[in-house]
Amino acid sequence: RRIGVALAGLGHYSRDLLAPALQLTRHCRLAGLVTGSPDKLPEWQGRYGIPDRNVYSYDDLHRIADDPDIDVVYIVTPNHLHKPLALVAAAAGKHVWCEKPMAMDAAEGAEMLKACRDNRVQLAIGYRMQHEPNTRRFMAMAKERPYGRIVKLRADAGWFGWRDGADGAWRLDPARGGGAMYDMGVYCINAARYCTGMEPLAVQAWDETARRDLFKGVDETIRFRLEFPEDIVAECVTSFGRNLNTLQVDCERGWYMLSPFQGYEGNQGRASDGTVFAPQLGPRPRMQAEQMDQDALAILENRTPRAPGEEGLADMRVIDAAFASARAGGERVDIARG
Ligand code: NAD
Repeated sequence: RRIGVALAGLGHYSRDLLAPALQLTRHCRLAGLVTGSPDKLPEWQGRYGIPDRNVYSYDDLHRIADDPDIDVVYIVTPNHLHKPLALVAAAAGKHVWCEKPMAMDAAEGAEMLKACRDNRVQLAIGYRMQHEPNTRRFMAMAKERPYGRIVKLRADAGWFGWRDGADGAWRLDPARGGGAMYDMGVYCINAARYCTGMEPLAVQAWDETARRDLFKGVDETIRFRLEFPEDIVAECVTSFGRNLNTLQVDCERGWYMLSPFQGYEGNQGRASDGTVFAPQLGPRPRMQAEQMDQDALAILENRTPRAPGEEGLADMRVIDAAFASARAGGERVDIARG
């Protein structure tokens, strides 16, 4: 059986990555559409053969409870809509896949987790890197420690996200979850956590936004430092003003790195002993296909997905503390425990 997926939010990521990726999956099919822009529907319905009965607006999404073709609602909207849509989908008895960042803050993330638990549906976060083989190797090395104790980590993630906002789009709007930390900082945080296999204890963050005329109430660039147990430190930079895409893990007896580490394709790297991490999954949107197949199998086999809601929530706790630190000029802020 193929898992029927309804995409909620038909913007760039749904159109250019997820919908094409669904055509490559073995365990999923694009079965429904949820949108606030009915003008997009003729093209989408025509291209993917979606009948009217599987089409919803954000306001009547609750009706999806009666739609046997849909197993999953995959939320791909601006970030402020992740929680409200997740609550409706869960109440309708549908599994929830949700893009990163999971929500606007940890409190919202916790609400989503509870709603999914209460309704006995799965919640998986769209952390596509956790399905990429080189990244999975790094996750395994967190346990194996082939180069000895981890000492320090560096994770930088940025792109020219502000261009999206130049015409007033949501990535520059604080109310809709704009800014670099939500969009790209989450890759640094998630990487620091999966490369150590630990939860950070405290954070210091410095808002280095240069263009306040463009970035009003949202961050362009944040530098932050995560303290982990065992005196491990992660130095991170996230930005909407620079292309940044490097992850490096320094250990007692060597190092390993990926650059790019969060690309749609071509993620590759090397280690101090000459080990090469060659690109694995093939061209985009293979990674998204792999992610959705894995998350579909978790549903079919009734087991926890690789990146469950708890993963998203752990990152939201770090983001909350990082924002608090940045507001206090880089003061050290403890990260809430799960
Ligand atoms: P986008 O702006 O291209 O698309 C957003 C869609 O939401 C649009 O179709 C828009 O019409 C709709 N929308 C509904 N309500 C809206 C509102 N109030 N304001 C603005 N748009 C509204 O954005 P995107 O790049 O597709 O990002 C969507 C989500 O996907 C975000 O959460 C983002 O973080 C995530 N994303 C993840 C990845 C990844 O690699 N995992 C990549 C890109 C985006």
